[in-house]
Amino acid sequence: MTESLEKILAGEKKYRLKQIEAAKFDPRINNFSEISTLSKELREKLKSVPWLSVKLAVLQESRIDNTKKAILELSDGMVAETVLMGRKMKKKIKNAEERYTICVSSQVGCAMGCSFCATGIGGFKRNLSAEEIIDQFRFWQRWLCVKNGKIDNVVFMGQGEPLLNYDEVKQAIIILLKNTEIGPTKITLSTAGIMSSMEKILTDIDFPPVRVAISLHSAVNETRKKIMPSHQNNFFEFLPIWAKKYHEKFSSRTHFLGLEYLLLDSINDDEKHLKVFIKLASKVGRVRINLIPYNAVGGSLRGSKEEVIKHWHNILMKSGFTTTIRHSQGADIDAACGQLANKMANC
Ligand code: SF4
Repeated sequence: MTESLEKILAGEKKYRLKQIEAAKFDPRINNFSEISTLSKELREKLKSVPWLSVKLAVLQESRIDNTKKAILELSDGMVAETVLMGRKMKKKIKNAEERYTICVSSQVGCAMGCSFCATGIGGFKRNLSAEEIIDQFRFWQRWLCVKNGKIDNVVFMGQGEPLLNYDEVKQAIIILLKNTEIGPTKITLSTAGIMSSMEKILTDIDFPPVRVAISLHSAVNETRKKIMPSHQNNFFEFLPIWAKKYHEKFSSRTHFLGLEYLLLDSINDDEKHLKVFIKLASKVGRVRINLIPYNAVGGSLRGSKEEVIKHWHNILMKSGFTTTIRHSQGADIDAACGQLANKMANC
């Protein structure tokens, strides 16, 4: 919520905020004066307040798949990137709405400095507010309104480490769950492994039961430290203990932990790394593994060869893990994993 909106609503009844919040999720409504449940006076007062906290700066559409990336300008001139990914329907139903996943950012830039990630290379600028996070959803929702599509999946895998912006991310998720048909297991929060925030999730009674995915990328201390400088050596002891408590808290059968593994040629993709990864994954309990082919962001890192990715997939499946090779979307518009880079001049 912008400050001026907060100020204007200060003397109003509490339900006014809920009315405004709900109206902002209706893509047919374009400004405050169209909210018929508000009094005429209040609509007049809100006239000068921007409807969304983000404004489209650049829209890029992939030529190879149904992916779009939006660079959104924030009120202070900084930018945040968000990606829309269309999913192929298994069965073509006439006039059926297309289904979309959106990838949202939680920070401008990122302090974690992962060597494979364009955002990390640029450093941290600031946290996004809950409103700025939700407005990435609203932006696509409004854009899709004229395109006959529906967002049914939200992943916090854009720019930034969501668990370093815990309160705003949590608030954004709560508002999304309250005002959309998206269920908690259709929202995935991806983290590099901020142990203090992961602990907090276990004891936070208000934390929504969304899915958590750990960006692991190696189960070997030296390797993980090399590609993820934020890695702490006790993380591999911490993770199974934390996961056990997590599974106790979110005990539903549909609730599993994601393990993300970006396969990098000659860095983390040999037999030793595979063996150690299997050992760790088997201690984490209900997991689903995502193998991610690497999209180069410059520098010396290269993605693993296709046969290596297939080999990892085979061995992990044979070892009893549900494993997916993530199909990378939007590579030609720098929208794939690790490619969001805030390539605007002011960042
Ligand atoms: S991969 Fe995620 S945590 Fe690492 S630098 Fe990039 S945005 Fe930050």
